[in-house]
Amino acid sequence: MPRAEARFLIGATVSRTADKWFIAIQVEMPDAKRIHTSESQAVGVDLGVKALAALSDGTIFTGSKAGRTTEKKLCRLNQELSRGIGAKKGEKQSNNFKKTKMKTARLYARSANMRSDETHKITTELTRKFGVMGIEDLNVKGMMKNHKLARSIADMSFFEFRRQLEYKAKETGTKIVVADPWFASSKICHICGEKHDALTLKDREWTCTRCATRHDRDVNAAINLRNYAVQSTA
Ligand SMILES: [Zn+2]
Repeated sequence: MPRAEARFLIGATVSRTADKWFIAIQVEMPDAKRIHTSESQAVGVDLGVKALAALSDGTIFTGSKAGRTTEKKLCRLNQELSRGIGAKKGEKQSNNFKKTKMKTARLYARSANMRSDETHKITTELTRKFGVMGIEDLNVKGMMKNHKLARSIADMSFFEFRRQLEYKAKETGTKIVVADPWFASSKICHICGEKHDALTLKDREWTCTRCATRHDRDVNAAINLRNYAVQSTA
């Protein structure tokens, strides 16, 4: 085995989520080579709830069908649970209720694992390919008060995405630029710079009233994030 590939087991942790046991193994690996130079390409990444991520080059990561199905099931179970809580106020929890609760916890863990797995594929691809990356301040997007389950899964995956990006970027030498919280990446036309304050989350596509460019909301936001990153690293 070449020396660069040597791995040493340094520890293991066992944990339990819902009714499943997990083992995490820590290995020591030599520092990966920094692959990026000043010639490397820049990219902007817009994270979403429906699509996992949109890139400034137009690429959209939609997430797997299996992942979306799991999330839908989870939302349905969660609704069943909240109805159950309402009906049985003050009573002992029924066996069915307990069963649904365990099923939900199990599915929640499964869904989180699937998201994490998909996120790993994307963050690996991005950090290998790009030397500069513009992303949003996730506190803006992630900390919005919203108790819907789909939203909470998305929030969790934003933080996971950021966590993975940061440690992988250290290995590849990718520079991550987090936009100022006030930077309105979704509302600025990347062609003419006009800011459209009236745009809402529902406007998935829009036309700039100043230069008449038709925009995909997420890709336009990603382009603004790329430009922001390029300007701030210049
Ligand atoms: Zn415009």
